[in-house]
Amino acid sequence: MTNENLIKIKNLAVEYITNKGILGGKQIIHAVNGVNLEIKKGEILAVAGESGCGKSTLAKAVLGLEPAKSGQIIFEDLNLLASDKKELKNFKKKAQMVFQNPYASLNPKMKIIDILKEPLEINTDYSQEDILKIVKEKIKLAGLSENCLALYPHEFSGGQRQRIAIARALVLEPEFILADEPVSALDVSIQAQIINLLKELKEEHNLTFLLITHDMSVIEFLADRVAIMYLGEIVEIGKTKDIFSAPLHPYTKALLSSVPQINKTDKKIILKGDLPSPANLPTGCKFHTRCPYVMEKCKTCHPEDTGISHKVKCFLYN
Ligand code: SF4
Repeated sequence: MTNENLIKIKNLAVEYITNKGILGGKQIIHAVNGVNLEIKKGEILAVAGESGCGKSTLAKAVLGLEPAKSGQIIFEDLNLLASDKKELKNFKKKAQMVFQNPYASLNPKMKIIDILKEPLEINTDYSQEDILKIVKEKIKLAGLSENCLALYPHEFSGGQRQRIAIARALVLEPEFILADEPVSALDVSIQAQIINLLKELKEEHNLTFLLITHDMSVIEFLADRVAIMYLGEIVEIGKTKDIFSAPLHPYTKALLSSVPQINKTDKKIILKGDLPSPANLPTGCKFHTRCPYVMEKCKTCHPEDTGISHKVKCFLYN
């Protein structure tokens, strides 16, 4: 890992308009609200939070799969939100995605060889001989044999399919991989193999990852740093070991208290109420409706980041 940033996200906001408002009227879903993040070359940055916190929308916005309302996403020196088609096409070769569900992400009608050749045929002018060489190299790198290439997706287990999806993400030699819940659809016995594969790719090939997951034990094993997201905001960010050993934000403490561990003595923190709707964000600190330490000012004032390498948004610390 270097100190150089591969991606810088500044003040990013993403909104949706739906027709599910009161009496069928339109409503605005504030999915991502003023996110600032930096991802260093060669690191795994995890974004964690409960379902509906905006982490998958953030990931899609980074890859241009969701339009941003405002802000900047800078990849190397390129502001992706102000780039032309040619620049975006170049970026898309350098940035690939591994999806949650390896059953849905592979075309069942295509042989594995064609699934892996497709991105190269679309995005490069390599000869068929060179394409085949790359495909064979990447399937091996993902831990499968060349014999797999002649088969169809349904002939593989979930773990093997996720390896194929990873091989497909690697064929264009990306610098950046966005992995959205890459193991949550797999059996527990298979999860460790895929997690180890991602770690090897990061360590041996200096790949940079944005890992989206709700699974804190995956983060503890895999991520260099972790950002905790709540209602579209990053409320705490720091090195994984610092966040796990000394979490600061009351929400992070609650998330970590729910991780099952042998010999764990700390009491599980049960938060009151459900996650508020992103269509109707609370004023002040967005966590104030569920926070055990809520103070009067939390209801009206919005806390800003405190700290340098370990940052938290909470009035308990400023
Ligand atoms: Fe709780 Fe207030 Fe801190 Fe928000 S700012 S997390 S409500 S103590």
